[in-house]
Amino acid sequence: MKLAHERQVELLRLQDLETEVIQVRRRIRSSPAVQRVDQLEQKIQDLKAELVRTRTESEDLARAIRRAEEDVGRLRERKRHDEKMLDSGVSAKVQRELAHESQALDRRIKDMEDAELELLEDQENSTKKMEDLKADLSTTEEQRGVAEEDRDSELAELTQQRNDLEAQVQGITGGLEPEVLARYQSSRNATGVAAAKLANGQCFGCRLSLPPGTAAELENKPLDELENCEECGCLLVRGV
Ligand SMILES: [Zn+2]
Repeated sequence: MKLAHERQVELLRLQDLETEVIQVRRRIRSSPAVQRVDQLEQKIQDLKAELVRTRTESEDLARAIRRAEEDVGRLRERKRHDEKMLDSGVSAKVQRELAHESQALDRRIKDMEDAELELLEDQENSTKKMEDLKADLSTTEEQRGVAEEDRDSELAELTQQRNDLEAQVQGITGGLEPEVLARYQSSRNATGVAAAKLANGQCFGCRLSLPPGTAAELENKPLDELENCEECGCLLVRGV
């Protein structure tokens, strides 16, 4: 295929621009600012989940405490009832029974109050944990806000760069004849390079030196003859 030499040089420029676009896209994807936002977002989700678990635990404890209080209340009520009966003058036998029950009630009240104290202690720890989690969550959300601003400003620059490069790529490809563009695109084979210069017998696409005979043959061809590297398949631009 024949293509004016200055048009071939344009293909080299196109190749450089495409390489730059790939690099900028990679920088956007691997930007530390993007990764930092992702990490903080993950931490926020973890903290929220932990907060939900702790809140549920605290509600369960509150219910258990209410139940324990009601149970103690019922036992005290029974004790008061027994005392009233004693005061109302009962037989010696009933007095003994009531005294016996009173002791048993005291023991049960004491056990239940101890259990309630433990529950209250657990609830206090749970409340403290929730406060710590909320504080941590609030700090992390602030950090995420800052990280998002950093990311946006960093990406704004990179996105602008990418858009400029893509517009330049578009400008060149838009001006190429369809058959030249097709040849350019189909030449992007093994190395991912579509066009490279040939200098001192070396293809700058695959970095390999061509056999001396092949190199000499290429050097002798007119410059407007568009050739491919026999090693990597990319278009070779000579005389640059
Ligand atoms: Zn090559």
